[in-house]
Amino acid sequence: VKLPPLQYVAPRSLAQACDLLAADEDAKVLAGGQSLMPLLAIRLSSPSTLIDLAHVPDLVGVDEAGSYVHIRAMTTHQQVIASPIVREYLPFVAEAGAHIAHAQIRSRGTLGGSIAHGDGAAEWPLTVLTLDAMVEVEGVRGRRTIESDDLFVGPYMTSIAPDEIVTDVWIPKKTEGWSFQEIARRAGDYGLALVGVSTETGPDGTCTSARITVGAAAGTVQRVPAAEDSVVGNVLDERTARRAGETARESLSFISDIHGSNNYRGHLVQTLVTRALIEAGARR
Ligand code: FAD
Repeated sequence: VKLPPLQYVAPRSLAQACDLLAADEDAKVLAGGQSLMPLLAIRLSSPSTLIDLAHVPDLVGVDEAGSYVHIRAMTTHQQVIASPIVREYLPFVAEAGAHIAHAQIRSRGTLGGSIAHGDGAAEWPLTVLTLDAMVEVEGVRGRRTIESDDLFVGPYMTSIAPDEIVTDVWIPKKTEGWSFQEIARRAGDYGLALVGVSTETGPDGTCTSARITVGAAAGTVQRVPAAEDSVVGNVLDERTARRAGETARESLSFISDIHGSNNYRGHLVQTLVTRALIEAGARR
């Protein structure tokens, strides 16, 4: 791999990293490098400087924080998936993360990097959106929290400003009423369609709230409000699930490429939404 000419800096504090990023609009943060390095190699990105976060303290780890699981941005995919806290309180995260690429990529790629990259086919953006997580960012202008609904604004586009660094992710604990579904051609490939479901149900089985998300198939990772509306207020049974699957298919526009037509992706989403709601309904 031959990279374009660039500077490399390895700040020892978050404040220093923020200063460096704010001082040069062509600089980019380097996390695991598993998306950025390939982009540099094929010249789709040519930053003046790479600001490596590897030596910035306190950016790795998973903690329990009341009703949330707190994951720091530089925690690798593998560390997230293997965390006993994640396995106990966020089985969705452990299951979704296992679908990310291969062991080598999972051992270097990071949660914060994947969120900042904002790939609509990636597992972490869909996870954050399904589980209604909060993402904390810091820059020279201060620290702020971004709600998941405000985070992903288009393909590879997020509401994180170019001078902000993702530092922390806060995910509400969720052990019931969840499902993650993905269809990929081969294990480790990016999915053709990803679906996430997170539901709350009353004592009689009536669904009181639902988050239904779709990734890969429709470009940006997104919620499907029409499908959510069709579920809330109804008993979460197979009939409700099938109707929501049909609604999801009707309400989205799907992409077509060499891996699958828009019609095929629509079919996958319909099937996965149905399957996910049946599974989430059984997990309560
Ligand atoms: P980097 O590559 O270092 O950075 C990516 C972008 O985010 C850059 O623009 C960088 O400036 C920015 N950035 C990084 N960290 C921060 C931060 N803390 N704050 C602000 N900006 C930041 N991913 C999947 O989800 N599913 C897959 O199936 C999958 N398959 C893959 C297959 C291959 C062959 C490869 C090479 C990658 C694959 N990936 C997949 C991508 C992988 O998961 C990356 O690790 C992830 O997308 C980016 O994380 P990173 O830490 O490597 O970020």
